[in-house]
Amino acid sequence: MIQPHILDQISSVIGNENFFTSPEDKITYSYDGTPLLEHLPDAIVRPQSKEQISQLVKLANTEKFSIVPRGNGTGLSGGSVPTENCVILDMSQWKKILEIDKENLTAWVEPGVITSQLHQEVEKLGLFYPPDPGSMNICTIGGNVAENSGGLRGLKYGVTKNYVMGLEVVLPNGEIIMCGGKSVKDVAGYNLKDFFIGSEGTLGIFTRILLKLIPKPQSSKTMLAYFNSKADAGRTVSAIIANKIIPATVEFLDNTTIRCVEEYSKIGLPTDIDSLLLLETDGHPVVVEEEAQKIVECCRENNAIEVKTAQTVEEAMRLKTARRSAFSALARTKPTTILEDITVPRSEIAVMLEKIESISKKYDILIGTFGHAGDGNLHPTCLTDERNRAEIERAEKAYAEIFEEAVKLGGTITGEHGTGLAKKKFLHLSTGHAAIDAMRTIKKALDPNNILNPGKVFDI
Ligand SMILES: Cc1cc2nc3c(=O)[nH]c(=O)nc-3n(C[C@H](O)[C@H](O)[C@H](O)COP(=O)(O)OP(=O)(O)OC[C@H]3O[C@@H](n4cnc5c(N)ncnc54)[C@H](O)[C@@H]3O)c2cc1C
Repeated sequence: MIQPHILDQISSVIGNENFFTSPEDKITYSYDGTPLLEHLPDAIVRPQSKEQISQLVKLANTEKFSIVPRGNGTGLSGGSVPTENCVILDMSQWKKILEIDKENLTAWVEPGVITSQLHQEVEKLGLFYPPDPGSMNICTIGGNVAENSGGLRGLKYGVTKNYVMGLEVVLPNGEIIMCGGKSVKDVAGYNLKDFFIGSEGTLGIFTRILLKLIPKPQSSKTMLAYFNSKADAGRTVSAIIANKIIPATVEFLDNTTIRCVEEYSKIGLPTDIDSLLLLETDGHPVVVEEEAQKIVECCRENNAIEVKTAQTVEEAMRLKTARRSAFSALARTKPTTILEDITVPRSEIAVMLEKIESISKKYDILIGTFGHAGDGNLHPTCLTDERNRAEIERAEKAYAEIFEEAVKLGGTITGEHGTGLAKKKFLHLSTGHAAIDAMRTIKKALDPNNILNPGKVFDI
């Protein structure tokens, strides 16, 4: 517990009107999007300037309390879940798009900007910010950078790290630094910018973010392909890429997910098929037309039962929105939804899907799988009830096995949701123990008092 006299000091740094300790506020900030993880914070603060954040960080070092940065709390690995003796640093009010620079194709934003709001603003100017996590209507750019989030357009356009050009960061000692900038080329010193991307709030607090923009693709075509087997869907993804086509989107949904999505969004998906692929190609209209035809051929050659093309922009949007609702649609069916995030090389998707199916049977748990198939990133999602301890234990064993199988296939335990609290005990499977020791050395050098989001990613 943070002592009352220290809470008073925190309040005077931040201003009493931006300092919250009511039981209701504490409960609101006690969890994020991750099931089975919650802890009450000692206080919540809404800082008004980077100088206040710097002062707060300095106070945390002298008085030894911890600070947990938070965007909108949609994280799926417990990154913004409170730790012992902690103040939640709520950055969600930092919502300004500070500049859109059409000459340099960049945008300066505050970290609390909602991802889809940035999309809308830049698209009005014919520009494009590709990273589009399924949570884009609720998550923040700061959270996206801290988790290096991916999205439906990751296959062709990459993930958040590919669009961060500069970061203003409050370090764990309270110093404020700027790394990167508008210069497209910059090799002055160590590449600190990339080092902070994906650091899950443990190495610094972002106060301003410079993002790269690109011209908005002129046209796009969205298709749905239905399959009777996951192997055929997996082989289709490999065939499309082998044909030298990089679609903007290749999303996979299994039967359990299709049924839940259809019940939720009523868009007319057949519920008796094994799986489907949602595919989108974008770019110059002539290229889009050619690529769409080849994609349809690849689907048919790999036994697609049916391939449908969206006839209007609205229909395409409905299909993509339905896919983005997959997590919410699955979550409605049972009280507890445990969503994982393994990634394997694309060529191993069909094998991984079969392994997930056999592991779910072995442990007698219900798993719906969907994901960014083009990136090899799958979300096996266990639908369960945390009050059923025996089932939760079986789910935990099943996930441990799924992680091991993903790593054996050359993959990783997390492709985009991060390690946080939820996956730290499995981190060594992906990185090895020596790499975790190297990460610990970096953390200790920058944050010797372990004040910034302690206990996340690994223990000190
Ligand atoms: C329905 C749903 C769908 C999702 N789909 C996807 C998806 O497709 N792809 C994907 O990658 N993720 C997805 N996610 C996960 C989540 O939305 C992302 O991880 C997102 O980037 C988190 O943003 P946030 O603002 O909610 O951050 P939070 O959850 O609040 O925080 C996440 C991490 O960022 C740190 N952080 C936040 N702000 C700052 C800051 N200013 N400075 C330093 N550190 C900071 C926190 O300490 C924490 O470690 C999904 C989640 C949900 C609920």
